[in-house]
Amino acid sequence: MNPADPLRSILREAYSPCRNLGVCRQARWDPTAGHVPRGFLGATGRAEDVEVVFVFAEPGFPHDQERYDPNLSPEAMLESVTSYVHSAFAYGKDQFHRNVRWFLDQLYPGTAFDDQLARVWMTEGRLCSIDLELGDARDHTCARHFLTRQIDTLPNATVIAFGGKGQAYLRRLGLPHLRAHAFAPPGCNYKGARPSWEAAIGEVRRRRAIGQPGPGVPQSAPHPGHSRDVVRRTR
Ligand SMILES: [Zn+2]
Repeated sequence: MNPADPLRSILREAYSPCRNLGVCRQARWDPTAGHVPRGFLGATGRAEDVEVVFVFAEPGFPHDQERYDPNLSPEAMLESVTSYVHSAFAYGKDQFHRNVRWFLDQLYPGTAFDDQLARVWMTEGRLCSIDLELGDARDHTCARHFLTRQIDTLPNATVIAFGGKGQAYLRRLGLPHLRAHAFAPPGCNYKGARPSWEAAIGEVRRRRAIGQPGPGVPQSAPHPGHSRDVVRRTR
């Protein structure tokens, strides 16, 4: 369930450990407490088959039983993290995971979760684990180092930012994206959440129908209406 190269090699850097530790605000590296960069999944096939990129805020607080062996090599740590995230989605661990699964099922009805994962890349605006996921702590270091490069490897994907923090990271990078409400509470419980998700789904379907992928379009020459045909902002 690991992402294929080149994403895999980009992300492996986060486990050496990440060179931005001590730079990123509040970033924690404590594998035995579950605090390692994580929160991404998908892109299991060819990069050009990825149709949508989801950008969330940052990894959620580690689950009670979530821990990683601090002695793992970067590659093994990446595998361990991916397999944990995969099981959290597969079993619908939190409301966040269940909402994402719902969204994927709208986009790819009748397709098994593991097959859907070849069509999407789910990631975080910042990969580092922090203590206060509901706080307003933003740090653009991670996004500058990791997010741009991740998106660059996926030439045909439409990027959707879920929630205000993901949107802020993409905006600062000048990367075109659709906007929708967060999948995690509290954003997902706001009245506008579901309509914003449905609008994003509609836009991806529309681009699919006309055979026109979204992204990768440089900010200087945006696809007409690209960053405006948005959906709605969180918070
Ligand atoms: Zn970071």
